[in-house]
Amino acid sequence: MAKKRVFRVAGQSVPAGETRDLRLKISEQFTGDPIAVPIRVMRAKKRGPIVFVSAAVHGDELNGMGVIHDIMYGPQLHLIAGTLILVPVVNVFGFETLSRYMPDRRDLNRFFPGTKNGSLTSRVAYMLFEEIARHSDFGIELHSAAQPRTNFPNVRGDLKNADVRRLAWAFGCELIIDGKGPDGSFRREATKAGCPTIILEAGEPLKIEQDAVEVGVRGVHNVLRELRMIEGEPVRPTYQVRITRSTWVRAEVGGILRFHVRPGDPVEEGQRIATNASVFGERQNVLRAPCDGIVLGMTTLPMVKPGEPVCHIAVPSRSLKSLRLAAARVTGGKKRRHRTGALVQNLARSETETMPGRGSYGKEQRKES
Ligand SMILES: [Zn+2]
Repeated sequence: MAKKRVFRVAGQSVPAGETRDLRLKISEQFTGDPIAVPIRVMRAKKRGPIVFVSAAVHGDELNGMGVIHDIMYGPQLHLIAGTLILVPVVNVFGFETLSRYMPDRRDLNRFFPGTKNGSLTSRVAYMLFEEIARHSDFGIELHSAAQPRTNFPNVRGDLKNADVRRLAWAFGCELIIDGKGPDGSFRREATKAGCPTIILEAGEPLKIEQDAVEVGVRGVHNVLRELRMIEGEPVRPTYQVRITRSTWVRAEVGGILRFHVRPGDPVEEGQRIATNASVFGERQNVLRAPCDGIVLGMTTLPMVKPGEPVCHIAVPSRSLKSLRLAAARVTGGKKRRHRTGALVQNLARSETETMPGRGSYGKEQRKES
């Protein structure tokens, strides 16, 4: 399975059984000094798959960096086979400036596999693709939502590819979004080049959120277990569901939002998502779910203009009723000893509760959407 017996990256070889921290030069500063991407390579003595785990290809998406740090500094990872390539910050340019983008205002994650003699972004994409994706058998890329939004942790990948499918289900998120990803994205191009790659989307940009980090660390461990690179079996959630369709609820009028749902909440058609009130509160507009689904993402900014996205709803391939039954079978009405994910808790709770209105907001007044 392994592509190379002697593993070499960033101009250095890493012997079997050793761990090395390397710097891959990808560009230069105005001063001519090098700009480098930090890479840790961990090799087991025994041959096996080569897996990369990368974060912050969008420079302001930091939860993945938290995941990689926990893997680096948490309980020691005992690799029994293969090679793990950890890249805590891919877009070092955007990371320094707290930005999603590159200095030439391009999105690095639309420029893979890049070109040797192209634009600044295209050259950086080329270096990263040659050194990381082409050296690897499998990939896991870690993202969060873009500004100003948050995502309920979910895995994405092209489920038509059998290896991507294997990784995506093994990762262990409840929601698996089926799709190749945008043209020029790292995961799409890496998969096309023979390195099946999935992504995690979890939480907000510019934060390291403990819940998102826990999902990410568990997911990476699960994939390494699936590939027999560490001991143990993948930890499965109570159920998993494939998502092929999603829809955005958008603001109808300008105003200030109060939410009635949270990321991961199941929602039924017609259920209140948010109340949008004008500044003096004389105009209120209640936004409702257009169909049954699960809240996949939402805005974190309380102010909206007409047409702006408020809530992203995933439409599962199984009914909410069957997901609730799966959750109930696991919990059995008893207190769980282990955390099994916010979605399960939300599903179990919503069996007995209606969604709360918050304060006086959410009382349906005047105009409705
Ligand atoms: Zn991203």
